[in-house]
Amino acid sequence: MVDQHSAALERAHRHALDWLSSLKDRPVPPQASIDQVTRALGATLPEVGSDPAEVIDLLVEACDPGLTAMPSGRFFGFVIGGTHPAALATDWLVSAWDQNSGLRRLTPAHSAVEDVTSAWLLDLLGLPAESAVGFVTGATMSNFTGLAAGRDAVLRRVGWDAAERGLNGGPRVRVLVGAERHDTVDLALRYLGLGLPEVVPADDQGRLRPDALEAALCDGGDEPTIVVLQAGNVHSGAFDPFADAITAAHARGAWVHIDGAFGLWAAASPSYRHLVLGCQEADSWATDAHKTLNVPYDTGFAIVRDAAALRAAMGVRGAYLILDEQGEPFDKVPELSRRGRAFPVWAVLRSLGRSGVAELVERLCRHASAFAEGINGIEGATVLNDVVFTQVCATFGSDKRTEEVVRRLLADGTTWMTGSIWHGQSVLRISVSNWSTTENDVQRSLDALRKAVTGL
Ligand SMILES: *Cc1c(COP(=O)(O)O)cnc(C)c1O
Repeated sequence: MVDQHSAALERAHRHALDWLSSLKDRPVPPQASIDQVTRALGATLPEVGSDPAEVIDLLVEACDPGLTAMPSGRFFGFVIGGTHPAALATDWLVSAWDQNSGLRRLTPAHSAVEDVTSAWLLDLLGLPAESAVGFVTGATMSNFTGLAAGRDAVLRRVGWDAAERGLNGGPRVRVLVGAERHDTVDLALRYLGLGLPEVVPADDQGRLRPDALEAALCDGGDEPTIVVLQAGNVHSGAFDPFADAITAAHARGAWVHIDGAFGLWAAASPSYRHLVLGCQEADSWATDAHKTLNVPYDTGFAIVRDAAALRAAMGVRGAYLILDEQGEPFDKVPELSRRGRAFPVWAVLRSLGRSGVAELVERLCRHASAFAEGINGIEGATVLNDVVFTQVCATFGSDKRTEEVVRRLLADGTTWMTGSIWHGQSVLRISVSNWSTTENDVQRSLDALRKAVTGL
């Protein structure tokens, strides 16, 4: 048993180190197609099995060319963090320890780490200390979880118990969102049976307009209402005006949820904290660990001020479960069974310390500003957003020209930035989210960008 483990784990260890050391120079985009990887793997399930260590070798050989260097310091696509060494090493232990961390008393080690980590998170993010923290798979599920607690709470206030009666025949729940909320908010609302939200106009940076929110709230009477705000717009990095929006929403008895998948981390830095001012007055918050905090996939946090509301929405009871009077970790998330997600989060926070987290956020923002400055120096290029955080959106003239720059950049392979459409215009989007990105990575990426523009 132990020997079987050690051969396979040693191979995995060696391959992991080879992969990590290749990141410095390998092209960021993958070098093999899905078909090529499928052919290399072989599509037929063999009749007879193989030794685990050999299987690891086979897998790595077939997959390596088809891997995207997402943990590279020159990956700026989507909003993708890398993996901090403390979190990666701990993630290996999570699999070796194999704790089903849903039950509090069954896994004292994980429960202790989850308690400590939750308190650290609330402190770093400047959120109310009494809030409940659910360790979910990512911000999509944090949005779902926070909005589930909100939906049930606003219905309860008008005497409707959604847990017992469902939504059929019940009062309508109004949901108001900013025009530039993340698409996963709509997805979460679909899971929740709430349908399409009502859209409140946003300003030129994509921030929800508080005057428009107030007008929309006044139109609605006293229906149960949820307002969704955003900390960190994926195009501009902008933050909604929390203080005004929350005051207006609460005056009407609405539940306020904030999607802060990456932006909520501004709170951890004294220099960027002003961006989330007022945010702590909301009722629920969503954020990711696998973006700004650079924990491996898939980890995020669903944070709800009213712990009882979260438990009412997500709690489950079963005769065979060993229950703790304090409540269970699974009362705070959609799943029953889950891996020990708190361990890697604890490790990265313990490794960085408070000043290290602040410094990480500040470094990502500094790199984003350096990108903006570099791009503004390229002829025909324009940075479209106020670069307040980690996101940069630029055009290179016409849509056709911008799309060609995106295509050439990918073909060059030095760096990965994604194309998108923002305010009806083709853009190049840069998201700085990786702890390992250096000034040199930024300069190499800007060189690649200048090369892609040359001769267009
Ligand atoms: C990434 C992101 C999400 C979705 O998060 P996942 O971790 O991919 O589930 C939601 N909202 C915003 C603002 C995001 O950036």
